Amino acid sequence: MPWQRLQSDFRFALITLFGALATVCLLPIAGYRFATGDVAAGVIDLVVVAVIAGSVVYMWRGGSVEWAGRAAAGIGAIGVIVVASLVGLSGLLWTYPAVVAGFLLIERRHAIAYGAVTVLIVAATGQGFDSGFMRVAFAVTGLVVGLFAYIFAHRTEHQRMQLERLVTRDTLTSAANRRAMEQELPIAVETSRRGNVPVSLAVLDIDHFKRINDGHGHETGDRVLVDFARVIGAATRRGDRLFRYGGEEFVLLLPGIDTTALASLCDTLRARVADMVEVDGRPITVSIGAAELGARESVSEWLARADSAMYRAKRDGRNRVVVAPSQVEATVVDLLQRQAALRD
Ligand code: GH3
Ligand code: MG
Ligand code: MG
Repeated sequence: MPWQRLQSDFRFALITLFGALATVCLLPIAGYRFATGDVAAGVIDLVVVAVIAGSVVYMWRGGSVEWAGRAAAGIGAIGVIVVASLVGLSGLLWTYPAVVAGFLLIERRHAIAYGAVTVLIVAATGQGFDSGFMRVAFAVTGLVVGLFAYIFAHRTEHQRMQLERLVTRDTLTSAANRRAMEQELPIAVETSRRGNVPVSLAVLDIDHFKRINDGHGHETGDRVLVDFARVIGAATRRGDRLFRYGGEEFVLLLPGIDTTALASLCDTLRARVADMVEVDGRPITVSIGAAELGARESVSEWLARADSAMYRAKRDGRNRVVVAPSQVEATVVDLLQRQAALRD
C-alpha cells in the first residue's frame, strides 16, 4: 500500500524524497564535522537526520502526512538556525535549501511564513557575516529565494490540480470517471476496515436509454446523462462519490452507509430521478442495485454483487431498487435453503 501511495499521493512522495535526500546529504556532513572536531555541529546534524527519518517512517506506518511534513520542516529550521550560529558560513548556506524544502513539506501559505522567519532569525543570529550590510544582503537574497519558490510552487500546484481534474473527471457529466473509481474504491475499502465503519456502493443504470438516443437523438441522450449526474450529485452528501462507470451506468460510493440504511437512501435517489429527469415531459427512470461491503470481500466481488442486484432490478421491471443481502444474511439464507433441501 505505501508503495502505491508514492504514485497517488504527491505530498507523501515529496516528503519521502526529502527524507532520503536529507539523510544522504547530512550524514556525510555530520561525519566530516566529527572528524574535524566540531562535535556540537555533528550532533545537531545527526539529530536533524534522526527526526526527519523518524517522520518519514512514522508516515509510512500510517501516520499523518501533514504532521510528518511539519516535524521535518520544524527540525530543519531549528537545525539551520543552530548550525548557522555555531559554524558560520558553512552553516548559513543551508538556509537556502531549508527555505525551498519548506514548500515540499508543508502547505504553501505556511511555507512562505516559515521561510521568511527562518531567514530573518539566521540573518539576526548567524555567525560569519563580516558586516551589517552582509546580514541585510543575506536576508534579502533568502527572502527572494522564498518568493521565487512560492511562485513556482503555486504554478506547479495549479497545473497539477488541472491535470488531476482532466484525468479523473468525465468531461460530459463532470462526475468522476472510471479511472478515479479504480483508484478510490480500494482506498474506501481500507478506510472502512481500518475505522470499522460500514461502506456501501450502488450501481445505477438508466432505463431504456437506447430508446432515448434512437427516438430523440444522441444530443438529447447526452443532456439526459448530464441532468442525471446533476440530480444525483445534488441529492447526495458531501462525502459520497459519483463515478461514471460506463455509457449510462454510474457507481455511487456511500461511506458510512450500511445495508439497513441503503434501501431507503437509494429509493430516494430513484424517486428524485423519476421526478426531475425527463425528455419531452416523460420521466426518465433508473434501476439501482446496491451492496454493503462484506467482511472479507474484494473490490471486484463487492462491485459484482451490486451489479447483479442492479440486473435483478432490471428483470423485476426497472425503475426500482434491489439491495443485495449483507454477507451474514446471505449465509443464513444459504443455510436455511440447504436445510430445506435436506428435509425434502
Ligand atoms: P436497459 O434499461 O436494459 O439498461 O436498456 P438500455 O437501453 O439503457 O441499455 P443498453 O445497454 O442497451 O444501451 C445503452 C446505450 O447507451 C447504448 C449506447 O449507444 C448509449 N450510450 C453510451 N454512452 C453514451 C453517451 O455518452 N451518450 C449517449 N447519448 N449515449 C450513450
Ligand atoms: Mg440502461
Ligand atoms: Mg447499461
